[in-house]
Amino acid sequence: MIEDGKVPILGITYTIAFEELDDENGYISPRRQHIGIRRGMNDELVQQTVLHEIIHGVLDQLGYHELYEDERLVQGLAIGLHQAFY
Ligand SMILES: [Zn+2]
Repeated sequence: MIEDGKVPILGITYTIAFEELDDENGYISPRRQHIGIRRGMNDELVQQTVLHEIIHGVLDQLGYHELYEDERLVQGLAIGLHQAFY
């Protein structure tokens, strides 16, 4: 179960909050060190979305700015990690 809180991404503490989002399941703002997750999704989708946003954050922190924008890569990694860990 994932709740509002904090997650460390390579030494940077991000806040995570459930929010009213219309056109996306989640987003990350490296500038604000914040992850927003759409309220009302099932647990599996929340887990996958949190992983997806954390992967964006890891790539940002490592300086892989082109890969940060690669939604297909980020989502593939999120689904793969989710299957392995949940
Ligand atoms: Zn994304």
